[in-house]
Amino acid sequence: MEIFRTRAEVHNYLNELRSPGRTVGFVPTMGALHQGHLSLIEAAKNKTSIVVCSIFVNPTQFNDKSDLENYPRPIEDDIRKLREVSCDVLFLPEVDEMYRSSDNWHIELDGLDIILEGEIRPGHYQGVTQIVKKLFDIVNPDYAFFGQKDFQQFMIISLMVKKLQMSVKLVRCPIVREKDGLAMSSRNVYLSEADRQNALALYKALTRAKTGFKDKSIAQVREEALDFLAASPGIEPEYFEIFNAETFQPAASKQEGTIIALVAARVGSIRIIDNMILTTK
Ligand code: AMP
Repeated sequence: MEIFRTRAEVHNYLNELRSPGRTVGFVPTMGALHQGHLSLIEAAKNKTSIVVCSIFVNPTQFNDKSDLENYPRPIEDDIRKLREVSCDVLFLPEVDEMYRSSDNWHIELDGLDIILEGEIRPGHYQGVTQIVKKLFDIVNPDYAFFGQKDFQQFMIISLMVKKLQMSVKLVRCPIVREKDGLAMSSRNVYLSEADRQNALALYKALTRAKTGFKDKSIAQVREEALDFLAASPGIEPEYFEIFNAETFQPAASKQEGTIIALVAARVGSIRIIDNMILTTK
């Protein structure tokens, strides 16, 4: 695996390798890699010829300074894991390689960036789109792979790609879960043993919503899920919403096509998000 730390090096390297029929697949991450990230690398390996992973803990998407400072950075382990899955290229820039001047630009995201996660983490999606735009410009991938785990992020990056008429095609990959259902996340390492057990309430709320969805109204499913979370030990629910997965607006009717439930909660001092498609077709 080639490792590059500057924009110019990775850009030039990929430009030389690229040829008709030789596609570049890209997996942007913030590191502390787990099986969820590695499943994206696998998906990229299956679809494209050259697989590029980036690891960059992007400061502009953190609105909580201590969350940024405490974000896990086990870089040696990450490099070993990427080698094990035969990733071809790792882009590993420092902050001043990605942000040299003041980056005050803003992408108009039609309000998708100020609801759900965006409401709780103001500015988060402006930071996400800023870094993903920069990374896309550097890597110039044919395909980029993202997890459904961050469903709102996927919708927002799709909107950015459409608005800026970027040529990259986005691939959404399924959520990888622990055996008991907890969605894998780099932040899970900070859960105490008790919180790790309590955190299962999010997955349970989602599976209950999916089971109940056939017979109950949208409002009823949502209310029962919030009640379930509020009654779960160690959980402080932030939201449980039922959205149209295509428009990313609250679902008004069960006949709208694909419908998704999205949940966020605090478990001890850690925020956890998860989601599940409720419609079966
Ligand atoms: P992050 O390092 O948290 O920025 O995540 C990098 C990419 O991995 C994003 O596209 C995430 O949606 C994806 N990802 C994170 N956790 C999972 C998971 N449990 N299953 C699938 N993809 C995931």
